[in-house]
Amino acid sequence: MQKTEISQAKDWLLPIENLPNVGPATKNSLQKLGIETIKDLLYHFPSRYLDTSKVSLIKDLRLNEVATVCGTVKKISRKIFGRRKSLVEVIIGDKSGYISALFFNQPFMAKIFEEGDCVALAGKVEFRYGRLQINNPLYDKLDKGQPLNTMKILPFHRLTQGISAKQMRMLIRKALAFIPKEDYLPPQVINSQRLVQHERAIKEIHFPENNKSLIQARKRLIFEEFFELQLAILIKKNLIGYQPTFSLQERGLIKKALKILPFELTGDQKIALEEILDDLSSKKPMNRLLQGEVGSGKTVVSFLSALRAIENSHQACMMAPTEILAQQHYQIIEPYSTKLGVKTALITSSINSSQKAQTLKEIASGKIDLVIGTHAIIQDRVAFKSLAFIVVDEQHRFGVEQRQALSEKGFSPHTLVMTATPIPRSLALTIYGDLDVGTIRELPTGKNFSEKVQTVVCGPKKRGQAYEKIKREVGKGRQAFIICPLIDPSDKIEAKAVEDEITHLKTDIFPQFKVESIHGKLKSEEKELIMQRFAQKKIDILVATTLIEVGIDIPNATVMLIENADRFGLAQLHQLRGRVGRGSEDAVCILFANLKTDDSIKRMKAIRELKDGFSLAEADLAIRGEGQIFGFKQAGLPDLKIASLTKDFEVLKKARKQAKELLWKDSQLNGFGALKKEVLDKYKKLLNA
Ligand code: ADP
Ligand code: MG
Repeated sequence: MQKTEISQAKDWLLPIENLPNVGPATKNSLQKLGIETIKDLLYHFPSRYLDTSKVSLIKDLRLNEVATVCGTVKKISRKIFGRRKSLVEVIIGDKSGYISALFFNQPFMAKIFEEGDCVALAGKVEFRYGRLQINNPLYDKLDKGQPLNTMKILPFHRLTQGISAKQMRMLIRKALAFIPKEDYLPPQVINSQRLVQHERAIKEIHFPENNKSLIQARKRLIFEEFFELQLAILIKKNLIGYQPTFSLQERGLIKKALKILPFELTGDQKIALEEILDDLSSKKPMNRLLQGEVGSGKTVVSFLSALRAIENSHQACMMAPTEILAQQHYQIIEPYSTKLGVKTALITSSINSSQKAQTLKEIASGKIDLVIGTHAIIQDRVAFKSLAFIVVDEQHRFGVEQRQALSEKGFSPHTLVMTATPIPRSLALTIYGDLDVGTIRELPTGKNFSEKVQTVVCGPKKRGQAYEKIKREVGKGRQAFIICPLIDPSDKIEAKAVEDEITHLKTDIFPQFKVESIHGKLKSEEKELIMQRFAQKKIDILVATTLIEVGIDIPNATVMLIENADRFGLAQLHQLRGRVGRGSEDAVCILFANLKTDDSIKRMKAIRELKDGFSLAEADLAIRGEGQIFGFKQAGLPDLKIASLTKDFEVLKKARKQAKELLWKDSQLNGFGALKKEVLDKYKKLLNA
């Protein structure tokens, strides 16, 4: 088939080489930008614009500002310096004065202009050597038809080797003819949101007529991006969870439990519990995320929820990421469940096999109501009689497959996943858009541990002072953490460096104190022993090369020093910081950071100033952008091209609402073929996961 015939079909899904002037070299360069089809090229939006639309008189020009002037060419001169360097000066005059256009090392420029030509120049105006000048200006010869480079809002696209800005603009201009005429958003959505048509929006985003039309184009495209994303997420949400499960009803056990708890639930805990119990009464399996900072009391909420399954003669299970946490849960829960007549078992890999065999039998026969454990629950041959409710604690520590495997122990059981690493609402609506989210903000003690922790960011010069601070605190009988992370555990040189560092700390810096280290190579029993000794005050300073287990409570620890703090995510730093200040004393967290990049400066400022996980999560998202945030890519989401989860959050909410309304009317989008195709194609990774 001939090229012209294909392009007459004007199918924007055609490979990029169907555009005129795209040979193998250009194709290659475009591919480096992720551009395979004509549509990809059209969605390669400008990263910035230069507004040269306003023409000024030469006498009104302001120094060091970008401006556009129109005039006639008065004089052209060319100078050559040395072997390679040249300068072409083109003097332009309008009715108010003169200005020079200077072109460096482009000798051919002398041939482009002729005296008397009518031209427009745009660029930064400077005054040097007694003359007004613009270096390497953008220009147009106005006798040659419409201006291409000046007197407009000029787009600048991300480029790569082999493609110039001009060439990119030229290719996109050619591609504009391929934009489908038909708008695939439903007319009612376009009307209610006052959006411009799709074709117009794409044209205007690349070559805006004026500022207003650019704003409208952006508005349309941001909305469109979020709308499609939300459709995909909501479609996915409906796909899962349609295997009906047990509807669990109130039978009085939770009321009894509330009476024996030594405290009253906080307002947020009550709301979170209500939401869960409401979900559990439905035949549709619950799929819910409960987020709340460390110490916010998620465990008790999940335990009470589990009772709802148990009082309906089913079983429940709780999976925690570490042995220590699983044991902690068991120790807290077991006394209550005994009083309630609920039979509870602990399953971890270290439980001996004769005992385990008996436990497994009782789980299979339904004699045990509640199983608490580590991933051993999924690895071992654990079979339940009737598992109706599962809890996954610190869910980000588990993979999707592990959660899935646990779920398969029951028949579409209701699922509650919990996290102490809060996520911004905008992310919750995207990454976890298929989950319902409950949040505990209020802390039972009314106190946020981090409030009491003074956070100091410092460079290497302060090291001596930092060690002095540790000595003073430990001298008073307090304890300290030093986090000395192995960035890459497979790196032997680095591992050696960390080992040397530990020896140095032990023998040179803190010889008078008991210093021990905990690292990834230790077995979990060994780690646990060290943590126990630390809790019993047998260790003064604990050097941790791995992250300290979440949820460990050492009220006597008042100092934490973190090395290479700039390499951690803000959520992680916040979690680490939460290990100190848990007692009645004030505490300090010292961050050693390399403040070489803007990004790291902003992040360290955020951790110093913000004390709650939610604000930090928002800040992290704003500083790093969604692409860098853990979970976005893992969820199978493509990069956002124009919308921003932080800046455009209001639009996101509107788009979600509109998407819901549309699916309510037409859950399969059967009346919207083009839209459906677009969504299924763009989000195939998410939808097939
Ligand atoms: P997390 O959300 O980090 O899992 P936990 O469930 O471990 O928090 O709770 C932290 C501590 O707070 C536990 O000792 C728990 O008994 C206690 N706690 C939970 N809820 C309340 C409450 N409403 N009032 C007082 N203490 C509470
Ligand atoms: Mg917890």
